[in-house]
Amino acid sequence: MNPAAKPQPNDDVIVRAHGGGGEMMGRLISDHIVSALGNQTLNALTDGAVLPCNGKHIVMTTDSYVVQPLEFPGGDIGRLAVCGTVNDLAVMGGRPIGLSLGLIIEEGFRLDRLDRILDSIAKAAREASVEIVTGDTKVIENVRGDGLFINTAGVAELDERARLGFDQIRPGDAILINGNLGDHGIAIMSVRDGLEFETTLRSDAAPLNAMIGDLLSSGVAIRFMRDATRGGLAGVLADISDRAGFGIELSELALPRDPHTRAAAEMLGFDLLAVANEGKVLLVVADSDAERCVDIMREHDTGRRSARIGRVVASNPPLVELVTEHGGRRIVQRPYGEELPRIC
Ligand code: MG
Repeated sequence: MNPAAKPQPNDDVIVRAHGGGGEMMGRLISDHIVSALGNQTLNALTDGAVLPCNGKHIVMTTDSYVVQPLEFPGGDIGRLAVCGTVNDLAVMGGRPIGLSLGLIIEEGFRLDRLDRILDSIAKAAREASVEIVTGDTKVIENVRGDGLFINTAGVAELDERARLGFDQIRPGDAILINGNLGDHGIAIMSVRDGLEFETTLRSDAAPLNAMIGDLLSSGVAIRFMRDATRGGLAGVLADISDRAGFGIELSELALPRDPHTRAAAEMLGFDLLAVANEGKVLLVVADSDAERCVDIMREHDTGRRSARIGRVVASNPPLVELVTEHGGRRIVQRPYGEELPRIC
């Protein structure tokens, strides 16, 4: 046997789908990571950890970014690294205090390109009203000459009024989203491998902490929030249905979607429900507060196209169902995870 042969996909090695945010990644996390390191805080598998601190609480989170290409319409790896971590803090009810920035740079990386990405990090941090307060820089050997990986961690002060969690969700609650689905994933796919579309597809990467902060301050009854990144809306809804034990009924007609993104997704064979977003939060809110939430979200640039897209139902078994534009019903599955590698 050739010793240089690449490992074949089997049960003993990591494959790209393990990082796709779908079912494969779920199993990697539960069967290996949580089984080795689990504790009460980690086992919750939320976007960040809520930790007690002198009678109050802080939120802590970390994320690594490996997106390819590094720069794309609407953003770059630096903008993602700020927005992703800020949004993970915000959906936990946190007001970001500071971020760390860890850079892993391949030898041969162009300095002007690094400067461009650092400028983008500074701009995104200003938008989110947060600073990079500590960091780390490592250089690794030249593999392709264009490699850059970023890790950001963040700390936030918990808004103590927030009562968020899968256990807060009830049948009858409304499902909201703050705008068009799938723009990030489709923008990346449009530039990858030389595939270009003659349209204005752009990533939606944006910090959502100002909009979420306004929602929390207004006192509306938010039960649960999660940013719909890898695995898209379908991944978040599958988690809600599994963990809360209720069904979800989505209305296809109500889903905000950009017509160009939609056309590109159809051409490429992607289901926009399963495509990554980087500036979208899914909210579960009390039905009586749904309209008020949408009004507050629409006051922000990041929420202009906010909509109520579905509701929580007491179905058995708990399934995520889409009521199609033609009035039919189809079950929305948890994405498997291999469709869009290195999307964030
Ligand atoms: Mg998240």
